[in-house]
Amino acid sequence: MKITRFLIGFARSLVFLFRRPIYVTLMGGPGAGKGTVAQTLAPELGLAHLSTGALMRREVEKKTPLGQSIEKIMKAGKLVPDEIVFKLLEQELERPANWRGAILDGFPRTRAQAEWLTALFGKWHTRLTVAVQLEVPEADIIERLSGRRVCSNTSCGTTYHVTFNPPKTEGVCDKCQSALMQRADDKPEVVLARLVEYRAAQAPILAYYGEVGGLWSIHTTNKNTPAQVLANVKSAVLASSKR
Ligand SMILES: [Zn+2]
Repeated sequence: MKITRFLIGFARSLVFLFRRPIYVTLMGGPGAGKGTVAQTLAPELGLAHLSTGALMRREVEKKTPLGQSIEKIMKAGKLVPDEIVFKLLEQELERPANWRGAILDGFPRTRAQAEWLTALFGKWHTRLTVAVQLEVPEADIIERLSGRRVCSNTSCGTTYHVTFNPPKTEGVCDKCQSALMQRADDKPEVVLARLVEYRAAQAPILAYYGEVGGLWSIHTTNKNTPAQVLANVKSAVLASSKR
């Protein structure tokens, strides 16, 4: 086991020597659209799209020993401790299929996690390519999220937007004619509270990447198309991979 790990590590160093991996952390608050960007950009650049939430759910489904302990912690309503998240993420990044690099969607969430990531890449004689922060004005986020409507028929669940993707008849689902509703999470006052909470939690991470370098903020508004946002993030990643 030990010797296999050593050999894999050796092979990885060789590969990295000839083709530097691209590691991106993609950050953005509620409604910033980071999930959509990561989902599209990762396959375009040949990178893995990793979100710790999805990794944990998959591990639980696979019923591995790690997955079983995660399930216990989640069922108890507790936060999964960093050691487990780190182990999971390292294991995933170590897979040869992910040696080209990865887009980390919503990680790190704390300064300690950011420091761990720097140390991991340092151990592998490489580095984080860029930390991208998607910035969207508050009013635009509120317009995006508070305009969302979802079909009340849970087996349909089609989503609409009163401005960007309206149904044919106001308040009625095109597909099943059920009434549309607004999720409690999307009400303007709840959106504002989520934004305030996100900013407070994000400040130390932005400060950290400001100190160690590699932070790239991308400002977008509701006037930008998803394709424009994607192009901006892509050029930030490619420019940073050359430095
Ligand atoms: Zn419907």
